[in-house]
Amino acid sequence: MTSGGEREERRHQAAVQVALRTGLLRRCSIHDAIFDPGQYDFQGASMTASFLINQSDALVADFDGDRSLLLERLKSICKTYPRACPQCNQPAQPAS
Ligand SMILES: [Zn+2]
Repeated sequence: MTSGGEREERRHQAAVQVALRTGLLRRCSIHDAIFDPGQYDFQGASMTASFLINQSDALVADFDGDRSLLLERLKSICKTYPRACPQCNQPAQPAS
């Protein structure tokens, strides 16, 4: 049995990496948590995504050159992240 789930996971991870590279998603430098800053430059991200596909970049190998598949994935993953690092938003625990 082929594991489509694994491939889906790889595509998801690749899309997250592309989103991070293009600024659609950010990673908190303190907590290493990924969040969605809500500053969409989707056109710029599309260009970068297209460039990676055209270059057959190893990062997007699991998309088999399917640019629209990657773009769809980019759009959908951004909705799944919080608007800011959840840990930065949390007030520090008072040391009792
Ligand atoms: Zn943080």
